[in-house]
Amino acid sequence: CGIVGYIGHREAYPIILKGLKRLEYRGYDSAGIALYDGNEIKLSKTKGKVADLEQRLEKEIPTTGKLGIGHTRWATHGVPNDVNSHPHYSNSGNLVIIHNGIIENYESLKKELINRGYTFKSDTDTEVLVNLIEDVMTNQNLKLGKAVQIALNQVVGAYAIVVFDKNKPNELVVAKLGSPLAIGIGEDEFFVASDASPFIEFTKNAIYLEDEEMAIIRLNKEIKIRKIKDDSLVNPYIQELQI
Ligand code: GLU
Repeated sequence: CGIVGYIGHREAYPIILKGLKRLEYRGYDSAGIALYDGNEIKLSKTKGKVADLEQRLEKEIPTTGKLGIGHTRWATHGVPNDVNSHPHYSNSGNLVIIHNGIIENYESLKKELINRGYTFKSDTDTEVLVNLIEDVMTNQNLKLGKAVQIALNQVVGAYAIVVFDKNKPNELVVAKLGSPLAIGIGEDEFFVASDASPFIEFTKNAIYLEDEEMAIIRLNKEIKIRKIKDDSLVNPYIQELQI
């Protein structure tokens, strides 16, 4: 029930880990982190507490990477276990997602994807969404941002998502409907989280996405915010946090 993401010049792991601890108050049953150093995506997740994840992750994977996403899960579809924990990969292994919320029409979407040859490791609605995004991307030969938008227009439900593409190590795509999502804007670095607490010590400048908005966050570029439904560009409203 919490999400944290980072892209920039610092090591992502300590920021993500601390951020997840700050979001523990939201309640959860599992936790996971994916890190990307531009070569290999590394991922570790577990049922249990963030402290359990910390122990497991540091034995399981190298903690390097300047892009990272982390999640605390409050299970809605699929029991709380290691496999159902987030992040989730797409079938190709190129896309990685974290998601808070519920994809209500996941069953019919899943059936269609299975008919197209997709396979699923978990029982989550989230793994359906990441493969739907991949399906749109590959069938229509689109970039991640556009594919996320088209996929979300097929979705009924609620979400805050963060997704990245192995082929785009400088980019995070985020979207929101129903669940909260804040973007922290630093110098040559960006943070995303369920609330500002994971990034308040790094930057006071934040954008709170509105429902049905998505953002493409690229290093050294302006943030692009669009309305998911009609594709119109939204002027980023950057707030100065008073904490
Ligand atoms: N529906 C997703 C799942 O059950 C996300 C739950 C959450 O908000 O943490 O995996």
